[in-house]
Amino acid sequence: MLKTRITELFGIKHPVIQGGMQWVGYAELVSAVSNAGALGILTALTQPTPEDLSKEIARTREMTDQPFGVNLTVLPTISPVPFEEYAQAIVGSGVKIVETAGRSPEPFMELFNEYDVKVIHKCTSIRHALKAQSVGVSAITIDGFECAGHPGEDDIPSLVLLPQAAEALEVPVAGCGGFSDSKSLVAALALGGEAIVMGTRFMATKEAGIHQNVKDMMLDADERSTNLMFRTMHNTARVFKNSVSDQVVEIESTGTASFEDVKDLVAGQRGRVVFEEGDMEHGIWSAGISVARVKDIPTCNEMVSRLVEEAEDIIDGRLQKFKAG
Ligand code: NAD
Repeated sequence: MLKTRITELFGIKHPVIQGGMQWVGYAELVSAVSNAGALGILTALTQPTPEDLSKEIARTREMTDQPFGVNLTVLPTISPVPFEEYAQAIVGSGVKIVETAGRSPEPFMELFNEYDVKVIHKCTSIRHALKAQSVGVSAITIDGFECAGHPGEDDIPSLVLLPQAAEALEVPVAGCGGFSDSKSLVAALALGGEAIVMGTRFMATKEAGIHQNVKDMMLDADERSTNLMFRTMHNTARVFKNSVSDQVVEIESTGTASFEDVKDLVAGQRGRVVFEEGDMEHGIWSAGISVARVKDIPTCNEMVSRLVEEAEDIIDGRLQKFKAG
């Protein structure tokens, strides 16, 4: 058993968290992760309305009696999102763990505190982490440059960002970006982290409700299989490298492109078709560099159990041997 302040805080067995993922974080995956002893996280905006989110929370509860949370990401969107109503749906459904991301959680803290919700804030820089700590979050996820989705604009990989965060903060820190297996879990613990957050790795599981074509493509991927887009719009996103993301990068390389020039290519609704129908060139889909480390498609339980057992073996075996030697 690997016990940390984060396993204690959230009442989970293993220091492993499944990060919020647009069009992936549904009840089936989240409950499987939580049943495996890690922390499953539903993605609020994957649900079309706050009412649908309440129903998805109820559906998750039917599938697990273990703790799970909800991700609320506040970033630019093509259509306006009633973020406050999503937050109300979360607290109204009795969820006690929220992963906030995208911008400071400050506007939501009064509501979350009123309902005794523990907030783990995901951010990409030490200054944002310190700000989140100052407004009362319980923990921080620090997103290194390797991560899927939005790695921020500073380009600092987890190897430097995680220990910087762990030393700067009093609240416990989870590492995100590049973490995918027992080796990277042990590394995160050595770097001062108290859990790892994995998104990409959890997509490549049996319970992830995405098309088999996506999972097969992840098995074929390597460390050069992602693109960074939206660099010129200060909303950098790491996504899988396909003809659509190549085209966005190409359009941006002119140096004069605006969001309107790429809007039709990047719309989340097109990415949704990739996940649901397996048409791999239909739109954008997020993946981190750790996609290179996906070697199989296990169940969540197989993956989490193996990861933790192997991590303990590394700590007791490989690392001890260096000391003895
Ligand atoms: P969407 O269809 O509204 O937008 C598609 C992409 O364009 C997103 O990356 C969005 O951030 C970006 N975008 C929208 N308007 C923009 C603008 N004016 N300038 C620059 N970039 C702009 O998004 P979606 O796919 O329906 O996702 C909904 C929200 O969830 C977005 O904010 C997205 O960034 C975020 N997201 C969250 C996760 C997660 O894991 N929680 C993953 C992917 C996306």
